[in-house]
Amino acid sequence: MDTPGIISTKHKNRVALRIRSIEPHSSELTGEQLGIIADIAEKYGSGTVHVTPRQTIEIPDIEQSLITEVTGILGSVGLYPGSSDRFLRNIIACSRWCLYNVAPLSDFTQKLNKIYKDKVLPGKTIISLSGCDFSCVRSKTSDIGVIARAEIEITDKKCKQCSLCIKEPLGCQVDAITITDEGVLIDTERCIRCGFCTNVCRPDSIRVKSRSFDLFIGGSGGIKPKEAQFYKNVSSEDEVVQEINKLLDKYLSVAESGERIRDVTERLGL
Ligand code: SF4
Ligand code: SF4
Ligand code: SF4
Repeated sequence: MDTPGIISTKHKNRVALRIRSIEPHSSELTGEQLGIIADIAEKYGSGTVHVTPRQTIEIPDIEQSLITEVTGILGSVGLYPGSSDRFLRNIIACSRWCLYNVAPLSDFTQKLNKIYKDKVLPGKTIISLSGCDFSCVRSKTSDIGVIARAEIEITDKKCKQCSLCIKEPLGCQVDAITITDEGVLIDTERCIRCGFCTNVCRPDSIRVKSRSFDLFIGGSGGIKPKEAQFYKNVSSEDEVVQEINKLLDKYLSVAESGERIRDVTERLGL
């Protein structure tokens, strides 16, 4: 098994170091961290870095013999090598400041990265958390995907008929809302529990009743992309952790070497 985060490259004796941020934030970089990365790229590499799809940063062209020295400097500011080979890939979430967020998931993702840091699994495994159904971090093509949900309710606060909840870009994407003279109506058959309408409704005529998480499993990108299957809905972050624990334990116990979760679900069923 290779060392986490060390990527072989075309250049002999030089490697790319894949690093991720875990402290003080997961997948977010402070000015100090950016400065350290820039210094390392200048001093030990070729002066450039690459930002990966999984919110890690690769510093290429580092001499293999200097890796321990470099990782020591990175570790002093909360940056760690990892997210490669069969080490669980960096768990990612969409940004905490997005207007569509049903629930900001950055801090929860940091908690998950701390729990599962460098866990070794039978095959490449990615876990992604999205704050809404747009799934910007590809939760539906991940081995385990999580999407935040919001059950909504209509309140007795008078609707101002502003139409923000039905207009692009922040309104309902599935035409589940009708505005009438008497107030707002929701078509519960159409509603996909994205919560967008609650983000724009200033008078609180529509609000979030409860939040939950949908879990999807067995998706992947790559040569043969596959959409993950809906697995279950759970109501708390603790339950998400419990379900991920169970899924990874099961994966470890039944997968053959190199098999991804999608392969296992194809072989054994969901
Ligand atoms: S998935 Fe939704 S909440 Fe997350 S960044 Fe995309 S639009 Fe925003
Ligand atoms: S929560 Fe339901 S009604 Fe509100 S915007 Fe989303 S789909 Fe539309
Ligand atoms: S429900 Fe809220 S956002 Fe929608 S039209 Fe009424 S006041 Fe505006």
